[in-house]
Amino acid sequence: MKPRAFNYVRVGSLDQAFEAYASVRGAGCYLAGGQSLVPALSLRFQSPELLIDISNIAALRGISLDGDFLRIGALVRHAEILRSHDIATHAPLLSLAAPYVAHPAIRNCGTIGGSIALADPAAEFPAMALALDAEFELANASGLRRVRADGFFRGLYETALQPGEILTAILIPSFGINERCAFDELSRRRGDYALVGAGVQATVSRDRVDEIRIAFLSVGATPIRARCAEAAVKGRVISAGSIAAAQAALDQDLDPDEDRETSPAMRIHLARVLLGRLLGRIGDPHGPSGRGGA
Ligand SMILES: Cc1cc2nc3c(=O)[nH]c(=O)nc-3n(C[C@H](O)[C@H](O)[C@H](O)COP(=O)(O)OP(=O)(O)OC[C@H]3O[C@@H](n4cnc5c(N)ncnc54)[C@H](O)[C@@H]3O)c2cc1C
Repeated sequence: MKPRAFNYVRVGSLDQAFEAYASVRGAGCYLAGGQSLVPALSLRFQSPELLIDISNIAALRGISLDGDFLRIGALVRHAEILRSHDIATHAPLLSLAAPYVAHPAIRNCGTIGGSIALADPAAEFPAMALALDAEFELANASGLRRVRADGFFRGLYETALQPGEILTAILIPSFGINERCAFDELSRRRGDYALVGAGVQATVSRDRVDEIRIAFLSVGATPIRARCAEAAVKGRVISAGSIAAAQAALDQDLDPDEDRETSPAMRIHLARVLLGRLLGRIGDPHGPSGRGGA
């Protein structure tokens, strides 16, 4: 199929982007890496009057330390995340998840901002943003606001972004000395969207879990935090017992729908298996994502 006819403009600043959006009274659509939008146009899932290409806005690029936060520009591509030393140091959970995002050709074009704005429940970065307690910086013609990942994902492909707003940056609290993280996913073939995926970020001192955030992808309409599983391990040493308690608690956290790929019961089973593996890695201070610590 071919897209419906549309006009195209490439803008060089946020102000130009907002002006272009206003010029078509909201019938515009922002284009970043195009890896999800272009197929959606071709399938006529979306038919904007004007495509506003924001990929040339320099202010949306770059990775930098901003106080205790790592600031990742919305236009940072998946492949840059995979290679970035700053991300490996300050937000290693993203480095662990990046190889699982699609294939190299898509990672060379797709952007983290596009992935989060789209909010595909099967995408890796939206769920990892939840696990990392990230904040999103959103801009419109009137100014900037920040929304925490916990309140950003509202429903299937539905977010806190208002019409015409642009996600400008992702802000992640910098990885601390006692923090550990782990990511894994299960898919039929490498590069496919995951049947189930999860990321864990935890603060561990003297082998005890002080803080923990667990986020799943591909188990519902949005990325999902497993708060009951978190509560089951918080304050405890990672052991066979605490892992089993967290796995059991997933029944309260997850309620996946039936779909063509797999049954809800199978998805919960896979989520339990994945959580067991991830907590095992969190319990190992010398694992690839641990920093030792107290
Ligand atoms: C074959 C295939 C396999 C894939 N597999 C995976 C996978 O395994 N895991 C995964 O996570 N993703 C996967 N993707 C999706 C890919 O990661 C996309 O790159 C990503 O979802 C969207 O990023 P983009 O920069 O290409 O955004 P675009 O396609 O340009 O835009 C996507 C949407 O976000 C909006 N948007 C983009 N940027 C902004 C912004 N800064 N502010 C506001 N709105 C914005 C656009 O208007 C559009 O609605 C796959 C894609 C393909 C084609």
